[in-house]
Amino acid sequence: MHPATRRALYRRLRAANPAPRSELNYTSPFELLVAVMLSAHTTDKSVNAATSKLFPRANSPRALVELGVEGVKPYLRSVGLYNAKSRNLIGLSRQILERHGGQVPGERAALEALPGVGRKTASIILNIVFGEEQIAVDTHIFRVANRTGLAPGRTPLAVEQALARNTPAEFKRDAHHWLLLHGRYVCTARVPHCSRCILADLCEYPDKSAAAAPARRPAAQRPRRRRAAD
Ligand code: SF4
Repeated sequence: MHPATRRALYRRLRAANPAPRSELNYTSPFELLVAVMLSAHTTDKSVNAATSKLFPRANSPRALVELGVEGVKPYLRSVGLYNAKSRNLIGLSRQILERHGGQVPGERAALEALPGVGRKTASIILNIVFGEEQIAVDTHIFRVANRTGLAPGRTPLAVEQALARNTPAEFKRDAHHWLLLHGRYVCTARVPHCSRCILADLCEYPDKSAAAAPARRPAAQRPRRRRAAD
């Protein structure tokens, strides 16, 4: 994609949503870390439903360690892989207490050493909590970056590196949210909604959904074709 097109694409996303934010509900860095960790392979809606009950009961590393794995499980039953996530949540809380004084660490290596925390979760925390220009690549961003031509790549890491290289500085802080929301609501996995996509004329995807073509009027409203003999 030409750099001018890339810049135009981000400008459009910014104009449509000048202050994007996560759809996960949280009130502290620790709550955000827990919510992002729980969101793997499940929807933000399911996570918010679970944390709306869990956080009033326990929203700090110490309170979660005291609750324990079995105590946490009933709150996470609506979240995919809840057995493993319950274990990770308590392990993560214990490690934050023992190694980081109860505070969410601000270094990638320390974040990725926490149970259940991978590169994507660490990037989101570094971006939202610590203000770093990180663009975490999830399934939505991977799809949008490849379809549009913004940052094609075979793996999430390749896409992340391409985005890091070619995203203009002024857009880096919010690019993650814009691309994620675009993938979640417009450039959806099975059939993208190209007809209502604000990026349609900039996007390089060759298989835009048919609806992206000019709307076809119902037959009754179409002018009759003149026959040669008319
Ligand atoms: S035009 Fe279609 S394929 Fe391209 S970004 Fe928009 S929804 Fe996705």
